[in-house]
Amino acid sequence: MDKVSTVKCKSYEDAYEAVKKSLELIGGIEKFVKPGDRVALKPNLVSKRAPDAAVTTHPEILKAVIKIVEDAGGKVTVAESPGGPYNSALLKGLYSVCGVTDAAEGTNAVLNCDTAFRDVPFPEGKTLKKFPIIQPILDADVIISLPKLKTHSMTGYSGAVKNLFGVIPGTYKAELHFRLDEREAFCSMLVDLCECVKPTLAVMDGVWGMEGNGPTNGEKRFAGVVMAGANLHALDYAACRLIGYDLSDIETLSDAAARGLFDPDEIEFVGEDPERIMLRDYVKPESHFNLLKLLSLPPALNSLMVKMLASRPEINAKKCVACGVCARSCPPKVIDMGTGKPVIDRKGCIKCFCCQELCPKGAVDIKRPLLNRFMIKVLK
Ligand code: SF4
Ligand code: SF4
Repeated sequence: MDKVSTVKCKSYEDAYEAVKKSLELIGGIEKFVKPGDRVALKPNLVSKRAPDAAVTTHPEILKAVIKIVEDAGGKVTVAESPGGPYNSALLKGLYSVCGVTDAAEGTNAVLNCDTAFRDVPFPEGKTLKKFPIIQPILDADVIISLPKLKTHSMTGYSGAVKNLFGVIPGTYKAELHFRLDEREAFCSMLVDLCECVKPTLAVMDGVWGMEGNGPTNGEKRFAGVVMAGANLHALDYAACRLIGYDLSDIETLSDAAARGLFDPDEIEFVGEDPERIMLRDYVKPESHFNLLKLLSLPPALNSLMVKMLASRPEINAKKCVACGVCARSCPPKVIDMGTGKPVIDRKGCIKCFCCQELCPKGAVDIKRPLLNRFMIKVLK
């Protein structure tokens, strides 16, 4: 049985107690960290946003985990490769704005600014046989994923497994989006990556999560929990149930279950039961997920319908400040800044929503085609 703990947490002022309890419920930190272990903490710092935007793992959660790991004798390094380029100056700015620098003050935690990485062969991978991985993750004896409870425009949900995408250096992430432009293949790659990295456990910041068009431009949503588990798929399953997703809604989950990496019926929920405190009105991204589920089509028709009905990015000219971040981060380079403002070439768009994720002004909307909206209305 995989154990997943869920502990109520009313505010970040109570983060330390909630994190400690969530770990005690799954066996205590000593079960995972031995004195002298090099421990890499991987928060979700997808973009340079202040902690109260609920985009990144809150510094109080990080601070609590650093203290608990250091009290157990672990040597902490905080490691992240956010969206966009991967360099020391950007990492320092990211740590500062996201509150990580303050969280580490008074501790011995090292904030990684070394941008070395290495290719790691992974012959057993179903979708990818090799991953470039950042050095602090390779150097660690123990890896702890610290995700934020969020929706995600491409994958539906961003949790413990998706958070590991940030162990891939900078622009390699865009390359993977480009190569694996179908959601199914991309999610299968995320499951491979989790198997390759072999994280020890995850502690989720679900105090303030994000709903709607996450992971960066959705709406803040209070969920009031901290969750922990050694099997990241089981933890993600519990978090998905909490926000009202089924196993079949989230491809990283269905893929991991099909590979036998976890069994939804073999999870012991300790603390709160996510099913009992489910947030049924948690808003999902405006992508095609709901529609495809309602249609229940055979796989062959599915991909055709995805193409016809998939939501697409659209630039909101009123909010856009023409910074060019979206064009630089677009994997197939189909955003043209020639006229000063971004213009998307729809034919080449692979609907990865990196532009929406990385736009600092929330100026990329997600539009559902009329037919999509109409069918959802009719089928509901
Ligand atoms: S990233 Fe956002 S603000 Fe910047 S050019 Fe693109 S749409 Fe405009
Ligand atoms: S335009 Fe946006 S959604 Fe389309 S491929 Fe580029 S980054 Fe991805």
